[in-house]
Amino acid sequence: MAAAIDLDRVIAAREALDKVPAKLAHRLGVLPVALDNDTLVVVQSDADDATGIMQLEGQLGLEIRVAPVRRPEGVERAIRRYYPESAETGTPLALLEELINRALQIHCSDIHLDIESERAFVRMRVDGLLRIDRELTPEAMADLVSVVKVSSKLDISEKRIPQDGQLTIESLGEEISMRVATIPTLRGEKVTLRILATAATAAELSSIDNLGMCDLHREMFLSTLRQAHGIILLSGPTGSGKTTTLYAALRHLRTPGTSHIISIEDPVEIPLDGVNQVHVDSERVSFNKALRSVMRHDPDIIMIGEIRDAESADIAVKSALTGHLVLSTLHANDSLSVVTRLTNLGVARELVASTLRLVIAQRLVRRPCAHCRRLVPCDGPSVDAFRIPPETMVVEPVGCQLCGGGYSGRIGLYEMVPIRKRERELIMAGAGADAMAEHAFGDMRLPTLFHDGKAKALEHLTTLSEIRRVIYLGEEE
Ligand SMILES: [Zn+2]
Repeated sequence: MAAAIDLDRVIAAREALDKVPAKLAHRLGVLPVALDNDTLVVVQSDADDATGIMQLEGQLGLEIRVAPVRRPEGVERAIRRYYPESAETGTPLALLEELINRALQIHCSDIHLDIESERAFVRMRVDGLLRIDRELTPEAMADLVSVVKVSSKLDISEKRIPQDGQLTIESLGEEISMRVATIPTLRGEKVTLRILATAATAAELSSIDNLGMCDLHREMFLSTLRQAHGIILLSGPTGSGKTTTLYAALRHLRTPGTSHIISIEDPVEIPLDGVNQVHVDSERVSFNKALRSVMRHDPDIIMIGEIRDAESADIAVKSALTGHLVLSTLHANDSLSVVTRLTNLGVARELVASTLRLVIAQRLVRRPCAHCRRLVPCDGPSVDAFRIPPETMVVEPVGCQLCGGGYSGRIGLYEMVPIRKRERELIMAGAGADAMAEHAFGDMRLPTLFHDGKAKALEHLTTLSEIRRVIYLGEEE
């Protein structure tokens, strides 16, 4: 276990946590993360504190191994998270707090409360995939749902229409905000809680350097951000990391005092200093109305959460034409379909050609856990599907106490096409997505999502099965 422990990715094992009483963990600043036969693997907030480890060894009668940790300053917070000082247990409110705490421990983004006819489940989405966390009785679930609704100021008696709310609870000295949505189903009310980033996690948010862009893409992205005006558009399905990329761009662009950055989001997902974030609540202010008024606030850079209709497309184009840098997302299957999508929304081809600067498609794949991954020769079908030499060594996920099933954390796959002179000519000439792709990926040899994924699998940053999961390989060359 040579790799340093990254507390933002690994999950401390229950078996290990159970070995160390909460008081001792707090007092010694030690977090147990794994139990390897009779050796307890721990991380320490103060790496020089050898006496603490000796005390722990003496008290537990176990051999202790101190693992290197990536950010020792995060150890204290992790100890508070894993050993919460809970006031009471057994009440629905205590259960809710326990679930939220658990979600934060395992880096879960969404908590689902699902009811079936005889059973009820709490499921959690981690690294983009759902897993069952625990089963409850339908009665316990009904109580839990009531507490969630009361805490998020929803109408508790109303069970027949969908409701949306916000829930903020203080957990271990941190404010945790969640977006709460209810929907009536055949068997009862389903509730989904989306965990919004805390101030602490927002501070650790990815910079452009650790999104996982290859050198070529990073340079394309940064050089386009340096331009004063034009549109940068990201496409990709929900959960493909578009917002993270946009936020990383805004963090890169903000320079205190000299530029005015404003964003219109529905809803604001992560608070960002230095950016005027406008939270749109579709029931009160329409997205487009907010967007129009933003233009009167003299912005330099505008982030539009999503171009969703003809009007927002029109505003984005006009803003770019009047000298603004516009960052936004659009629903499209791949990078170049963005062009067709914009013209379908009624934007004239000349305007698309003159304002678009960079189109990006993005996906997220899971990273293999650094503590248990294994290198194996690539199998026959993958050799064919990915066109790689036989016996090429690739990563196979294994699974260990520190991860859920061999993966931990995610990395972006990108496809980028800069819109320059030749591309503008093609757009003006009415070229379709296929002709544009032929030019960009054939003539220009720009890497596609598939190429980027394959390169990352060969660098052991992800696995071939992850690439298959997020990219349809049926029609690859
Ligand atoms: Zn592992």
